[in-house]
Amino acid sequence: MSNIPVYWKTRLDEVEETLKLVKKGVVTQPAVSAGGRPIYMVEYGKSTLPPRTANCSSALGACGKIECYADKSSPDYIPTVFLCGCVHGGEFEGTVAMLNLIKLIETGTDYRGERNDELVELAEKVHLILVPMVNPDGRSHIPFDSFVGRTFYDLRYYNQGTWKDGSLCGWPECKMFHPIKDYVDYLGGYFNDDGVNMMHEDFIGGKLSTGTQLVFDICREHAPDFSILLHGGDNSYPHILPPDYASKKAKLEVLAVMDAVKERSEKEGIGFSHLGLRESENNPKPPSFNLISAMHHCCSEPAITYESNQGLIEHREPCYTHDQIYLSHMILFVETLRVQLKRYNKI
Ligand SMILES: [Zn+2]
Repeated sequence: MSNIPVYWKTRLDEVEETLKLVKKGVVTQPAVSAGGRPIYMVEYGKSTLPPRTANCSSALGACGKIECYADKSSPDYIPTVFLCGCVHGGEFEGTVAMLNLIKLIETGTDYRGERNDELVELAEKVHLILVPMVNPDGRSHIPFDSFVGRTFYDLRYYNQGTWKDGSLCGWPECKMFHPIKDYVDYLGGYFNDDGVNMMHEDFIGGKLSTGTQLVFDICREHAPDFSILLHGGDNSYPHILPPDYASKKAKLEVLAVMDAVKERSEKEGIGFSHLGLRESENNPKPPSFNLISAMHHCCSEPAITYESNQGLIEHREPCYTHDQIYLSHMILFVETLRVQLKRYNKI
């Protein structure tokens, strides 16, 4: 195990400690998890959307009059960016980055004591919605604070859990049972205390977990111009997964962010895998309509999954350090904000 740096804050009590710093934004607790844990939200700035006359589906049904749902045509419109961390409880690298982002906005320095004026200046120009830990139940299933220096076995054991016979649930096999609670011995960090994986709920007409309901409420109300679900992807190079079911327009917006993150990552000497756009809905086995696709259909704007490297040892390369994982998220945040501000001619 490597030493965990001071800025590496991943626990629910560390979320709460950081939220106590918030003075420039507004902290709310809009939901409680299945296990009774608080789910917090921080909002910086305010939505500048005018009142709507229709929901997204109806507005698009009016021959594409999206402005009936979310009119962003005013020159005073401020873009909204939504960041959501710890969707899977063992993938808390994004939570670290979000808590440091809050610290930066509030105090000018991150938990390392370092400035990032570029990020702060961009963040202050948008309407920013942060949910640092949307799955606190899943986080509570992980009895340590970092996967850096741990093994792939540890990741599988604690994140996806074990079956009744003690064998690893694994990925993607853990998705064969939903909710998984009654089939497992160790309930992994993927799941809330009801055994629900937020990425794959019964989005159309089913009863949703409170975390997922919150994500949809944010998307529906604010029509975020860009939404990111922050995940960990074992030792893969950091990468962005676009929604499989989305308009071409939204996919091209994702591509613009991928391009910018790739270019900046190269400049900073950190890896990023640019996967391009997928046309996988035409596959004989169609991809799942997962949470990011559902978010897109709430608001017609792009939502992505970001997969971080997790620094595992005795596993495939690359094995990132805490600092490299942190830097890759800061690049993601800076470039996402920059692309959205440019989209509305704000910079
Ligand atoms: Zn994940």
